Amino acid sequence: MLIYNSKTHKKEEFIPLEPNRVRMYVCGPTVYDQIHIGNARTFLSFDIIRRYLQYKGFAVVFAQNLTDVDDKIINRANEQGISADELAKTYSCAFIEQMHRFGILDPDIRPRATAEIEHMQVMIQILIDKGHAYVADNGDVYFSVRSDHNYGVVSGRQLDDMRAGERIEVNDAKRDPFDFVLWKAAKPSEPSWDSPWGKGRPGWHTECCAMIHRYLGTPIDIHGGGQDLMFPHHENENAQASCAWDKPLANYWMHAGMLRVDGEKMSKSLGNFYTLKEVLDAYPADAVRLLMLQTHYRAPLDFSFERLNGARGTLQKLIGCVENLRWSAEQSGESGALGKAEQALGNAVDHAQIEFETQMDDDFNAAGALAAIFNLMAHANKYLEEAGAHPCVAPMLRCADMLCELCSVLGITLAAKTSELPAEIIDLAQKVTQQSASSCEEAARLLIMARAEARSNKDWTRADAIRDGIAELGLMVEDTANGTRIKVKN
Ligand code: AMP
Ligand code: ZN
Repeated sequence: MLIYNSKTHKKEEFIPLEPNRVRMYVCGPTVYDQIHIGNARTFLSFDIIRRYLQYKGFAVVFAQNLTDVDDKIINRANEQGISADELAKTYSCAFIEQMHRFGILDPDIRPRATAEIEHMQVMIQILIDKGHAYVADNGDVYFSVRSDHNYGVVSGRQLDDMRAGERIEVNDAKRDPFDFVLWKAAKPSEPSWDSPWGKGRPGWHTECCAMIHRYLGTPIDIHGGGQDLMFPHHENENAQASCAWDKPLANYWMHAGMLRVDGEKMSKSLGNFYTLKEVLDAYPADAVRLLMLQTHYRAPLDFSFERLNGARGTLQKLIGCVENLRWSAEQSGESGALGKAEQALGNAVDHAQIEFETQMDDDFNAAGALAAIFNLMAHANKYLEEAGAHPCVAPMLRCADMLCELCSVLGITLAAKTSELPAEIIDLAQKVTQQSASSCEEAARLLIMARAEARSNKDWTRADAIRDGIAELGLMVEDTANGTRIKVKN
């Protein structure tokens, strides 16, 4: 299995530190607002990576922090006249809620920065003792970047090529403009904690590093985040770990590409964002997943509602295909000898699984894996069309199961939830046929018979009225080679 390691700029064979066990960390959100779909893209990318590693049989231990103390949180809380803690709690809950809606698996460990202060202080003290950090005149503690001879290994940047002030905060307290803050001296009315260097709070880069060390041990196998975190965040995290514990922070550094709108990175500061919540209020989570997964996780992803509508249509086709396969199998009951067409479908099922794994083994190419799924769907549709009234049960069910299984590795559920008919169909059947049905399925059968009868009597008005009544319930009548059925409208 190959993983693209940002640190070496190449795909490398994945060899975890312990056989069959993967320790993985992905930087979590700063909880000051609802997350946007760009953030969600990064979290989705690593959800898929984690799910696939599990599918391959690895026991994955996955940790993700919540940054619940930070300038943005403090400023927003001040604007709203509430405490930083209250604001952070509100948006931590909101984040977890949206992650659940989006089908992202919970991390095994979800540390909050404010609950880990003691461990960050231990690390900072080690860095001071080893001469890699210093207490500045203003009470801040800084990491001395030039004391780390390996600085730049994660992002591939050389100190001499960097310009201070570009992405590096310049201030007078630092000995060198490249130095970064480990501990910020408290300002009045800001949340703060006691420390050997006076009251203050941790720097952002310090959190993840201390949490990784505490919960997973260093080095870990996989460290991930969005590409924008590679420098300086990940570089600085790695510098602290290598200087404090003489070990790199992670063996494989993975970075998700940025989600863009009109060619520009989606971000709060540019104001060109859609929150995950507003998108999930309007679209099924799996459609959003499908859209995102159609682009390789490392490539930039251009978001548009047009593409999202397309993905929703594709999702419906997949659900419809599985539904058709299962329904046709139920109707047909034909278990006869396997002919050429059945063998071809069986081969397509085998091939889809192999192709899916080949693509995912190649640096989690979910776009390629989806192409394998779409290809299988095309085979299934062709089989259904050509098999006519007597399709063979076994290969259809195998194909439906495979489509569901492969999609589930990508966190997409195809189980035909949509075939559930609403209870109102019983009243409709009663009204149309004056017969009472004891289940939705029976009501559907009565309506299908009534419509067929009307059509054979050339009573088009009645046939249309039945169809319209069905449509009003959000359902549709579908005529197939295997008979007629009523299903939820795609
Ligand atoms: P933040 O809360 O800003 O630290 O962001 C949380 C995660 O979202 C980080 O891993 C970022 O790299 C990632 N992220 C931020 N903006 C985008 C974007 N436009 N596309 C993809 N990932 C993003
Ligand atoms: Zn981090």
